[in-house]
Amino acid sequence: MNYSNLESIAKQAEGPVYVYDASKIEDQYRRLKKAFSGIEKLKINYACKALSNISVLKFMHNMGSGLDTVSLQEVLLGLEAGFKPQDIIFTPNGVSLEEIEVVAEKGVQINIDNLSILEQFGAKHPHIPVCIRINPHVMAGGNSNISVGHIDSKFGISIHQIPHVLRIVENTKMHINGVHMHTGSDILDIEVFLHASEILFNTALQFKDLSFIDFGSGFKVPYREGDIETNIEELGEKLTARFIAFCKTYGKTLELAFEPGKFLVSEAGYFLTKVNAVKQTTSTVFAQVDSGFNHLIRPMLYNSYHEIVNLSNPEGKERFYTIVGYICETDTFGSNRKIAEISEGDIIAFKNAGAYCMTMASNYNSRYRPAEILWHQGQAHLIRKQETFEDLLNNQILIEFNDRVEV
Ligand SMILES: *Cc1c(COP(=O)(O)O)cnc(C)c1O
Repeated sequence: MNYSNLESIAKQAEGPVYVYDASKIEDQYRRLKKAFSGIEKLKINYACKALSNISVLKFMHNMGSGLDTVSLQEVLLGLEAGFKPQDIIFTPNGVSLEEIEVVAEKGVQINIDNLSILEQFGAKHPHIPVCIRINPHVMAGGNSNISVGHIDSKFGISIHQIPHVLRIVENTKMHINGVHMHTGSDILDIEVFLHASEILFNTALQFKDLSFIDFGSGFKVPYREGDIETNIEELGEKLTARFIAFCKTYGKTLELAFEPGKFLVSEAGYFLTKVNAVKQTTSTVFAQVDSGFNHLIRPMLYNSYHEIVNLSNPEGKERFYTIVGYICETDTFGSNRKIAEISEGDIIAFKNAGAYCMTMASNYNSRYRPAEILWHQGQAHLIRKQETFEDLLNNQILIEFNDRVEV
């Protein structure tokens, strides 16, 4: 898929559009698998909150991926896309016992990250195996030093509470079949990851009948030239050796699981918009596109950097622009960016738009959520239509007022 493919897709679309390159998803999946090819039982569960279109889920399923889900609705989407319940893991946070029970009844592997829920679930369903999510209290420090903090995170059961977990297991006779960690989306440093893994191994030794260890995700992908990305190959080499040694100590060959979201889909995605107006002010030149944080909120929400290119004039002379949207609120996509000269009507692409972009889109300003296209084997496949006015009205109820009250 090249820029001219993207430009012609944008020109045929009725409004802004997300495009995903299936071959990039496949490359990333293959890269991860290859890095861990020394692992006898490897399980990659795609974290679908990153991008949950059912055709993308089906594509993941076709490659042999499992699915990591955080809500009952994501589980239902996964089943709809063709995943078997046993290919799905449910790793929610802060959901009700009832929701966990509904998912468990479907045969999906559940992962519990809360002592209170663990105790209640174990008492009611001691025969259903459960994975526990631990909080190893490790996070990547600013300059790649290991800082043991993060004590206030809402995720996971603290490693200091493992004695309590063991007591719950003993009292309820429930079966813990996996241990899990997911330390967030910004592991820069392999040493930090390996450090957290040691904590997970130590925890695993306390449970005698495990089938798997789940290392979550947090793999970093480059957003701009020169960005540090997780060296998956080096991590693969080091963690594989350590995991094999651990299995020897444990006395059983366990499954090693990952749940990558961003790593698989971020770079595959492009968000395409059209320039409505070029507006010169006293301090900058704004290029205003036919979208806003209703469609791509990451720059405003997380201050994320998305590279911006002018597909209509890629070889043009570069100038500085501030790219903004059409929302009646500040919605800056990028400030003071060097971009090939922009004219009204040009197609502007935002890169790294595969993960946490469309799944966070809203109807703010009563705009339609965009269409989605999967570029597969040289062809553009529409996998979601742009919304219509009917979609905006759907579920709204226009009530009758008997008397007209002048106020
Ligand atoms: C969001 C999430 C992931 C995926 O994280 P990425 O940074 O996108 O790879 C994995 N596991 C869990 C439990 C998550 O909530």
